Amino acid sequence: MSQFKADFHCHTTISDGSLTPEELIELALKQNITHLAVTDHDTTKGYEKCLPFAQDKNIQLISGAEISCQWQGITFHIVGLDMDVENKTLQDGLEYNRQLRIKRAKEIDEKAKKRFGSLLEKIRPKIKEAMIGRNHFAQELIAQGIVKDQNQAFNKYLKQGRPFYAPVAWPELEEVVKWITGAGGIAVVAHPHIYKITANKLNKMLVDFKQAGGQAIEVVNQPRVCSEQIGMADRAKRHGLYASLGSDFHTLEYTWRGLGWLAPMPEGVDPIWNHLKGIKL
Ligand code: AMP
Ligand code: MN
Ligand code: MN
Ligand code: MN
Repeated sequence: MSQFKADFHCHTTISDGSLTPEELIELALKQNITHLAVTDHDTTKGYEKCLPFAQDKNIQLISGAEISCQWQGITFHIVGLDMDVENKTLQDGLEYNRQLRIKRAKEIDEKAKKRFGSLLEKIRPKIKEAMIGRNHFAQELIAQGIVKDQNQAFNKYLKQGRPFYAPVAWPELEEVVKWITGAGGIAVVAHPHIYKITANKLNKMLVDFKQAGGQAIEVVNQPRVCSEQIGMADRAKRHGLYASLGSDFHTLEYTWRGLGWLAPMPEGVDPIWNHLKGIKL
């Protein structure tokens, strides 16, 4: 195996990424990634579809999904890694979340219809069976020239408080952590720096997360060393959580967020790769 290079958070066309599973693996190989977790929203199908393309290649896949949940009414994303994807409770849970996504998409569309006509009718044939998310609405708003980019789509229409926002009663954090750990996996708090909550509240969430059986936090998600990484490394140590890393890669269009573009893991943390079953380093 070549020099270890991991990325444990990314997306394909199975959810809101723009590369197919085959293209994602091709890119991962080009980037010399040796260990990759494909973590599509509320589905393990991205990982499963990638498997044949990684067969006999210089890359090891780790099963994954990025699962939506709520804690104190705030939406959080928990990445599940190294799970038994055959586990029924996990798959039932993911299916439950997918139904919530479909219901929300219809609600968003009802709101959007009044302004621009149905967006969903245009989105559906483009995304086929992909797990629908707000990003698909953002892409459609861009395609129709209504907004210039994804940020504008969220800021004007899709985020909380904006006209097309539809709330979702995601399952509780504790329950989602249990789906993951019950399937033998490791639950990871995804991109902990993006939730618009105080540092104190994040710390409280981490206490509850750990108590529920959560084991890890994404410490590195950017190409450069930055203050967020230092803060999250510190939290990993204080809360006794493994440190994970992931680019949250979605598309080649975001030239600032490439697959595998990750700063080195800070010193003094317990890296998650030492705790993944069957991983060959
Ligand atoms: P969903 O899980 O369908 O609600 O969508 C979450 C996805 O939307 C995330 O993976 C981000 O890629 C994207 N997203 C969420 N909030 C924003 C925002 N304010 N600006 C741009 N993209 C966002
Ligand atoms: Mn996404
Ligand atoms: Mn996310
Ligand atoms: Mn993600």
